[in-house]
Amino acid sequence: MELIPVRNVNTFVFCPRLLWLEHVGGDFVDNEHTLEGHFVHRRVDKPGGKLNAPNEEDEPWHTRSLWLSDDDLGITGKIDLVDAEEDGSCFPVDTKKGSPKDKSELWPADRVQLVLQALLMRAQGMRVEKVAAYYNAVRRRVVVELTTEMISEALDALADARKVFEMEPPPPLEDSPQCRGCSLNQICLPDEVNALTLGEDTKIKRVLAPQTDSLPLYVVGGGTRVGVSKNTLIITPRDAEEDIRKVGLDMVSELNLLGGVQFTTQTLQYCLGRDIPVSFFTTGGWYYGSTFSTMSRNVGVRISQYEHHDKELSLRVAQQLISDKVHNCRVLLRRNATNESDTLKRLKMLRREAEKADSKGSLLGYEGDAARRYWSDFSDMVAEVDDAFEMKGRNRRPPKDATNALLSLGYALLTKDCTRALLNVGLDPYLGMYHTTHHGRPSLSLDLMEPFRPLIVDSTVLQVIKRREIQADDVVRTGQGVMLKDRARKTFIGAYERRMADAITHPVFEYRIDYRRVLAVQARLLSRFLTGEIPTLPAFRTR
Ligand code: SF4
Repeated sequence: MELIPVRNVNTFVFCPRLLWLEHVGGDFVDNEHTLEGHFVHRRVDKPGGKLNAPNEEDEPWHTRSLWLSDDDLGITGKIDLVDAEEDGSCFPVDTKKGSPKDKSELWPADRVQLVLQALLMRAQGMRVEKVAAYYNAVRRRVVVELTTEMISEALDALADARKVFEMEPPPPLEDSPQCRGCSLNQICLPDEVNALTLGEDTKIKRVLAPQTDSLPLYVVGGGTRVGVSKNTLIITPRDAEEDIRKVGLDMVSELNLLGGVQFTTQTLQYCLGRDIPVSFFTTGGWYYGSTFSTMSRNVGVRISQYEHHDKELSLRVAQQLISDKVHNCRVLLRRNATNESDTLKRLKMLRREAEKADSKGSLLGYEGDAARRYWSDFSDMVAEVDDAFEMKGRNRRPPKDATNALLSLGYALLTKDCTRALLNVGLDPYLGMYHTTHHGRPSLSLDLMEPFRPLIVDSTVLQVIKRREIQADDVVRTGQGVMLKDRARKTFIGAYERRMADAITHPVFEYRIDYRRVLAVQARLLSRFLTGEIPTLPAFRTR
């Protein structure tokens, strides 16, 4: 029988889904509660505790950090502290960061964990008649006599916890206060999953993690060198006249290198060691790819993705994403166009057609028709500001006009962000549901970003042109096409990041959320849809 850590049974009693997410899904993140837990444990976490011989007549003794295992019980675990009494009996004491239940009672999860520790000690021949927890928040020890009911409860919980490793993810808790403090709430999405599986009456609380202080860092310009010293990135421009910049790694959420930036292996090691992904782009903004420290260990998600590839479910995903995109394109035109056009009516019709397309081929046709009309109207909008921004249709590699150069850079940034969101949830960004597989193309990232192209990129392009933050002469001609000058590239990247940080009301869950988190949630929901946990992929359509 495989040994289960006693701590996992505690997690199971707290929430079966949490145990599944951590140990089957392979997701673990720290939050302020887990970090505080590590902190209060630091004194009892010194390894090497020893157990006295059973019934040894001795002075009262204690030992810390005692590891015990028992094959018959099928458990293993570390006991923070063993306290012995003058009569030769002893008992386990576990350190907890919070407060006891109702001032003097153990929480069920703590009780089960302590009883299993007591059974481990008994298996070593110790006389154990009670258990105790030290609750750090109130600095009080709660001691409870061991009863046969408590032992039955703990053994039942152990048997049930074992089953979790063999099953599909258990459903989230419903409207539970536990979820608010749970470190995996942003991965579990308890209220969102319940709303999509149980019905619309589910109350949705925003349990998403707050924004951290770190931000994406972009290094633009050939010849710039990026090194590291004492947890600080040192950015040295090629031009010796320009200042050297220093940025603490703690302030960086991701590092993006555009063009021929020199970058050391040591810097890459530092970044990956701190879970900072590094992404690489050409000078023109074409996205090469990213280096991540690890991929999600949730292989089950990838198996579902491969199983559904090119099957009926992938058509449903494609219908949803393309109809959402057509809808959101229409909203952008409706909000910004000044001229009357029949495009809005046509886009509405094409959205409906896309919703019920019977093949990806016909979906491609509806999408193409919608794109032609949309870009024509979009071109009119930017040309109204300055006719030098007029587009020659949507073109790329290389873009032939300033507006297309801005759009291409924006889509490259969005591809990078969608790739990161998909990898975080364990999906393979290179196997699309709508976009066909093509060597080196992150097809699923291109799928995921479809509804967000107009909302994030096109609207950013429109804004920088309307506000005249970027002028038509901010591009240089390069043979067949045009390229943004450094200043324009930096200005646009700043505008893109501001857009990603914009808080909007989520159209389905109705809480405030920024676009970066929206992508993370949408990627998570896509994985849940592919594994069958939720019945539909929720639309993302703005009003
Ligand atoms: S968020 Fe709630 S349901 Fe989800 S794992 Fe945590 S405690 Fe369980």
